[in-house]
Amino acid sequence: MNLPHIINIQKYSLHDGDGIRTTVFFKGCHLTCIWCHNPESQSFTKEFMFSKEKCKSCLSCIKRCPSKAIATTHGKPCTNTKLCTQCETCIDFCPYNAREFIGEQKNIDELFKEIEKDRIFYDQSYGGVTLSGGEVMAQNIEFILPLVQKLKNRGYNIAIDTCGFAPLNNYLKILPYIDTFLYDIKLIDNQKHLKYMGKSNELILDNLKKISDEGANINIRIPVIGGVNEDIKSMLDIIDFLKENIKTFKINLLPYHNLGTSKYDKLNLKYQGDFLTTPTPDYMEILKKLFINNGFSNTIIGG
Ligand code: SF4
Ligand code: SF4
Repeated sequence: MNLPHIINIQKYSLHDGDGIRTTVFFKGCHLTCIWCHNPESQSFTKEFMFSKEKCKSCLSCIKRCPSKAIATTHGKPCTNTKLCTQCETCIDFCPYNAREFIGEQKNIDELFKEIEKDRIFYDQSYGGVTLSGGEVMAQNIEFILPLVQKLKNRGYNIAIDTCGFAPLNNYLKILPYIDTFLYDIKLIDNQKHLKYMGKSNELILDNLKKISDEGANINIRIPVIGGVNEDIKSMLDIIDFLKENIKTFKINLLPYHNLGTSKYDKLNLKYQGDFLTTPTPDYMEILKKLFINNGFSNTIIGG
């Protein structure tokens, strides 16, 4: 089986569902959101990251690379990813931890063993396991389905954190084992969705309607991004869509932050979201009231 790449297994997480949780971040997502604060989670394969700030130009990596994949540019190492065989020798020999690879393949037993270590915390806090990303639902379903079955057999509360852009069948297959879907909605205007997320929102909205019809427990999460969707009209569009189509119990409004922008440099990518702004706390309160006044009493900021 083609195993998915895991970016991170985060322990003691308080923001990805109820209680204390272990969150597994899968690598790979088909959307390319302009504000993405985890650009390393977009590609489905292992990736090299280099920190210019940490690098002290000792050039050990160049001497140690067996593939001669590293040269110098302006005194700093420059890695040719076409020649690099991802042997990780340079990672071990960099004294300043300036080099790293993101993404590690694990089989179900290895992942399960890691999750089991935190069982005591789930039991005491009514927490559980959250599968996130990247996009967990865009991973190999032949891996995800037996994983959630195994977790459910063990009695774990399972949350799926999803952007909705994945085959409907994947959702329907795992739905009986999932306690909560943390489902992102960003824009109802499809032209803007295409522009800022790189894909149409039709599949996302259709999947949401269908899993709601199937009785899924859904927690809507709305990233509020200044310059993209923070305006009242965009929010009212979302409200209208939810009222018409979804039986939901909770809404999280998540203000945009730009904490992940330095990662673009490490991946040798250009951040395209310099024009984005963070909504003020007062404005977030206005949006919260808007949702509450429209019947979504269980709306909170953050989470
Ligand atoms: S080994 Fe690390 S610190 Fe030294 S040049 Fe290479 S990346 Fe920079
Ligand atoms: S991972 Fe291996 S091949 Fe790639 S740059 Fe480092 S030492 Fe060279």
